[in-house]
Amino acid sequence: MRIGIIGGGIAGLSAAHELLKEGHEVELYERAPYLGGQVVTLPIADTRIEFAYHHLFTSDIVIQDLMAELGVLDALEWYPSKVGWFKGGKIYPFISPIDLLRFRPLKPWNRLRLGLAVLFLQKYDNWRKLERTTAAAWMRRWAGADAYEQVWKPLLRGKFGTRYEEISMAWLWGKIHLRTTSRKSLNKEVLGYPRGSFSIIVDALEQSIREKGGVIHTGASVERIVTEPEDGSAAPRATGIRTDLGDIDFDRVIATIPSNRFLAIAPPMGEEYERKLRAGSYQGAICMLLTMKHQLSETYWMNIGEEDFPFVALVEQTNFLPREWYGGKHVLYVSNYLSTQDPYWRKSDEELMEAYEPYLRRINPDFSRDWIETCRVFREAAAQPVVPPMYSPLVPELQTPVENLILANTTQIYPEDRGTNYSVRLGQQAARVATAR
Ligand SMILES: Cc1cc2nc3c(=O)[nH]c(=O)nc-3n(C[C@H](O)[C@H](O)[C@H](O)COP(=O)(O)OP(=O)(O)OC[C@H]3O[C@@H](n4cnc5c(N)ncnc54)[C@H](O)[C@@H]3O)c2cc1C
Repeated sequence: MRIGIIGGGIAGLSAAHELLKEGHEVELYERAPYLGGQVVTLPIADTRIEFAYHHLFTSDIVIQDLMAELGVLDALEWYPSKVGWFKGGKIYPFISPIDLLRFRPLKPWNRLRLGLAVLFLQKYDNWRKLERTTAAAWMRRWAGADAYEQVWKPLLRGKFGTRYEEISMAWLWGKIHLRTTSRKSLNKEVLGYPRGSFSIIVDALEQSIREKGGVIHTGASVERIVTEPEDGSAAPRATGIRTDLGDIDFDRVIATIPSNRFLAIAPPMGEEYERKLRAGSYQGAICMLLTMKHQLSETYWMNIGEEDFPFVALVEQTNFLPREWYGGKHVLYVSNYLSTQDPYWRKSDEELMEAYEPYLRRINPDFSRDWIETCRVFREAAAQPVVPPMYSPLVPELQTPVENLILANTTQIYPEDRGTNYSVRLGQQAARVATAR
C-alpha cells in the first residue's frame, strides 16, 4: 500500500517505521522544517537539549523496546530524580514516604491520610470506576480538603492551569499508579534520559525510515485531506492529501496532528465523531529554557505550591543530568501550562522574563538576570489534552468514519498521561489499523 502520514512527531515517525517494516510505501509530511514535534531539540555545548524538558519513567516500556530495535537503547541512562515542593518560602523534598511525613504545610494526620490515599491508588486497578468523578472531588473526599488544597490542587493546576477542577480521577489514577508502581524502591525514583537527548530517538527513526525507502518531506504543511466522491453521492473515502506541492494520491492517510487541526483539514466526519474530536481540548505550554552561570536550587523537579506564581514548575536539568554535558552551565526550564486565551500566552519572551524574575528570586534570593547566558522560549498550543470525567466513550477511534483515514494523536492516550512512550504505541497502533484490511 501507499500510505501518507501527516506529522513528523514521535507518533508519525513510529507509524512510518512500522509500516516500512511491513513492506509498505510511506511518505511523511511535516509542517515544521525539522522532525520531532513536541520533542524538538536544539544544540547546546557538544550535545543537544529538548526545548521542553523530557524524561522517561521505568514503566515506559514501548519506547525502550523501540530504542532497542533501533540500536540506541545503550544511550538510555537512569538517574535519581530529586522532586521538591516550594511552599511558604521553603523547598521541601517530596519523593519518599518519609518526605511526606515531614511535609509541614500539611497537618500530621492529613499527611498520613494523603499517604493512605496514594497507597490505595497504587494497589487499585479498576480505573473505570474512578472515571465517573473528578480528581478534585475524589481527592477532597478521600485525601481530605487540606491535602487537596496543599498538594493535589497545585499539581493539577501545574498541568491544566485554570481547568484543574475539570480533570477525571482516571487521569490522576494513571499518573500515580504508573509512576509509583514502576519504582523499584519506595524511597527512590529513577528517571531515564538518552545521552545526547531525545534527538537520538528521532534521528534513529529518521535514519531507519530513509534506509527502508520511506520519503520524508519537512517544511511541508498538509492543507487538505482529499476524498472521493466529492459530490456526496456515496460515503467519502480518503484518496490522498493536498500540499502546496499539489495533490498526492495514497491508499491510506494517517494524521498524527492535534484534533483541532485535523478538523480543519479533514472532510466532514459525522456529528458523533466530530463531537469526540471537539471533546478533546488542550492546554498550551510555555517553556522557558535558561542556561545560567549559577544553580537556582538543588531540586530537579520543583512543584510550585503557591497560587500567585506566574509559572507552575521549575525543572533544573543539571540537578538531574551531569552539568559537563552542557559545557558546565546550569540549565533550568521555567514551565507553565495555560490556555491559549490566557494573556500570558501572548507575552513576548522579554515580558515573560520580566514577569518571572521576581518569582525566581523568591526561590533563590540571589538570583539575578546576570546569571542568565541564554534564554529560549518554546510554545506549544496542543501540549496537554484536558481529560474530563467519563472520557472513555469520548476517545475518538483511530479508524475515522472516513474510509482509509486514520487519526492518531495525544487525545487518544487514556487513562495514561500523554508522553513519548504512548505516542510510539499510538503510531504502531495506527500502522496496524491502516493495514488491517
Ligand atoms: C512541556 C512538555 C513536556 C513534556 N514532557 C514529557 C516527558 O517528560 N516525557 C515524555 O515522554 N513526554 C513528554 N511530553 C509529551 C511528548 O512530547 C508528546 O506526548 C509527544 O512528543 C507527542 O508526539 P506526537 O507525534 O503525538 O505529536 P506532536 O509531537 O505534536 O507531532 C505532531 C506533528 O504534526 C505536525 N503538523 C501539525 N499540523 C500539520 C499539518 N497540517 N501538516 C503537516 N504537519 C503538521 C506538527 O508540526 C508536529 O510536528 C512533553 C510535552 C510537553 C509539551
